[in-house]
Amino acid sequence: MPISPGERRSIPQPVRFGKPSPFLNGLRCIKCAKVWPLDDHLSGCPACAQAGTPASVAPSFFHLPSLCTPQDIPFWMAYPGASELGEGNTPLIDLPRLATQNDLERLMVKNEAANPSGSHKDRMSAALVRRALDIGPRKVALASSGNAGASLAAYCASAGIECVVVTTQGMAPGWRRSIELSGAELIVVGDPVSRWELIAERVRSGEWYPATNFTTPAVGSNPFAVDGLRAMAFELYLTLGSDQPTDIVVPVSRADLLWGITKGYADLVSAGLLKVMPRIHAAEPFPRISRALAGENWAGRFEGQSPFRSLGGDSVTYQAIAALQQSRGLVVSPDTDETITAQVDLGRQGLFVETSSAIVLSGLQTLRRQSDIARGASVLLVATSHGYKEVDSRLGNRSMGVAETLQKLRFDCSDGSLQ
Ligand SMILES: [Zn+2]
Repeated sequence: MPISPGERRSIPQPVRFGKPSPFLNGLRCIKCAKVWPLDDHLSGCPACAQAGTPASVAPSFFHLPSLCTPQDIPFWMAYPGASELGEGNTPLIDLPRLATQNDLERLMVKNEAANPSGSHKDRMSAALVRRALDIGPRKVALASSGNAGASLAAYCASAGIECVVVTTQGMAPGWRRSIELSGAELIVVGDPVSRWELIAERVRSGEWYPATNFTTPAVGSNPFAVDGLRAMAFELYLTLGSDQPTDIVVPVSRADLLWGITKGYADLVSAGLLKVMPRIHAAEPFPRISRALAGENWAGRFEGQSPFRSLGGDSVTYQAIAALQQSRGLVVSPDTDETITAQVDLGRQGLFVETSSAIVLSGLQTLRRQSDIARGASVLLVATSHGYKEVDSRLGNRSMGVAETLQKLRFDCSDGSLQ
């Protein structure tokens, strides 16, 4: 119906609480279990940091209310609030042909590319912005090579908060353009380590509020941002009930997503809503977590070349190890060429995902070959990011064949610029 002159139509506004949950009783160290007062423990648990074994903290609750409908999910979060830009409740898609090819009873994808900025980072950004609104005006900052920066810039723009994204020359044009359009400040530094150094300096001076890690050895991202990822487990519970997947595969870098989903499922088990959580497996582009699990000091450096810009870095976080232990998950490092082929396989199912996201399918195939995921299992893959953002970038040039793409990737990686 047309709107007559002078008529006003009310537009529903999202509720932006910016206040912590009344059920929150502090932040619990994920390693030593000490509960700290509600505050920004940005370097993780103070006691574990002093002991030389840095570990992140996670919101801890006195009690969690009922969880019967999607409207209940915000009240399981540290900072309840309505969806800001439409994040969350992403599609769950069955892939019956790939299930048959991999001898699985069921294969599903949780399509996080359907979030507003095209990645799961929107769940973190929405949660982080609520915390930022609660603690007062300060410029929010993060180190990012793409998805996290584009996402936080959008959510800060929506909330009217200043944002700064510190990146390197390797950022793809699509991400750069979206950050610039949001009005966020974009600072380009020489290498990934310099990003963290700049953020650490400005955080210590009180100028910036960090959304991501800036410490060495690394802990996870801001705990209030990571908390937003728990909602993915709650959505899967409400959609699938007791018919949960036996196995979930997620891509990992510093394992915010792996930890967030695992913590969400742990909460569901603690609340008596599920008897057991799925096994949650990590797919990484080169051995890092697997070396730590084999006995190397997880607080050390794990150098390697990753052609997948969203999965770079040379650090392992304690939250990765804790999540795999809690969920009885495994870690795999599929071949790069298999991951590139997996992106094509997902495209043939109608899903255009970032190459970094396709590692969940190559990871699944590796786990099936090794019989680490059983024949007849029910598997969920988390597709974290949309492929459009790589168009016009080195990985996005799909006019090249797989072999040609691989050759170019190896050349591009020789200077480590993609990490
Ligand atoms: Zn601790």
